[in-house]
Amino acid sequence: MTTLTLVQGDITRQSVDAIVNAANSSLLGGGGVDGAIHRRGGPAILEACRALRARHYGKGLPTGQAVATTAGELDARWVIHTVGPVHSTTEDRSALLASCYRESLRIADELGARTVAFPAISTGVYGWPMDDGARIAVETVRTADTAVTEVRFVLFDDTAYAAFAQQTD
Ligand code: ADP
Repeated sequence: MTTLTLVQGDITRQSVDAIVNAANSSLLGGGGVDGAIHRRGGPAILEACRALRARHYGKGLPTGQAVATTAGELDARWVIHTVGPVHSTTEDRSALLASCYRESLRIADELGARTVAFPAISTGVYGWPMDDGARIAVETVRTADTAVTEVRFVLFDDTAYAAFAQQTD
């Protein structure tokens, strides 16, 4: 049984087994959640990402997939990096967004993580409308077959929190 919880705040301040990063396919850092995670988590995360690029993901991590590294100095055991799709008005990429949540939970299960914090993937720089991003996130997590006991959505502002609250009441 997975409990969904919502908090408004900064995902890098969470104490959980795994923090999910809205990464880009380079795995070498970026803005938004990615920038915040590398800033607060310290250089060990980037080092682990570089090693992954060198060994397994020469062309980068494909959209919709997920991979774990150390969480460095964050109050978590792992960071799970997943690459959300860029929103498109001409192509339906929702399956890829759902895949980010599902694959992150699959990696969490492999690791034995029981508490996982997610940001609202793709709803920042990648332009996904917040209400639709929230709907896909909640639906996917609710229907996932996982041993994770708590999925905590960490929403940065009022609008994001309200969108997720509407999906969970
Ligand atoms: P993407 O490139 O997948 O769109 P972003 O990191 O740009 O990823 O944004 C994803 C969501 O995370 C946005 O709603 C953004 O407002 C939010 N966000 C940005 N920084 C943080 C943070 N430190 N903690 C939680 N959410 C954040």
